[in-house]
Amino acid sequence: MALDAFVRCTCIRDGKAKPHPFPDRLTFDGSGEPSLTGDPSEEEWDAHDQWLADSCEHEGFILSFFLGNITKVGNLRSFLRALQGKPGPRFPILLEKVLYDGTHTGDWIPIKQSPALLKEVNTVLHSSDILADSEKEFFNNMKLLCEASIATGNPIMF
Ligand SMILES: [Zn+2]
Repeated sequence: MALDAFVRCTCIRDGKAKPHPFPDRLTFDGSGEPSLTGDPSEEEWDAHDQWLADSCEHEGFILSFFLGNITKVGNLRSFLRALQGKPGPRFPILLEKVLYDGTHTGDWIPIKQSPALLKEVNTVLHSSDILADSEKEFFNNMKLLCEASIATGNPIMF
């Protein structure tokens, strides 16, 4: 078990994906995930899922990263807590939405918070001389995820 993060591409919204099997019932849920309206049968979900896995050259995702296992996430959490100050840098989104748990999946950061998250990440990267290589890798990946989220208008998902 570990922590992975993704940002969806915009091919479906932009009309660049393969035709959906039931285009008039295609919708997007709160996380931006393509879904079906109505009361889909198991067969309809299967057809939708098959379409989704093969809908565009990105297989639906423009970026995906393995962020770390439970131990690494725990270490990053301790590191960030120690870096916080009063007054001083605070990392509420990183601590409460990203690193709060080493195995969360199926949740996401609302798109309107991506710019604030990018600011938190850049604050940490500004002190890159105190970061170990694996910490640098994590925060650089978070930066790429934030930038992809802002560019696509899609949230960072876990
Ligand atoms: Zn795509």
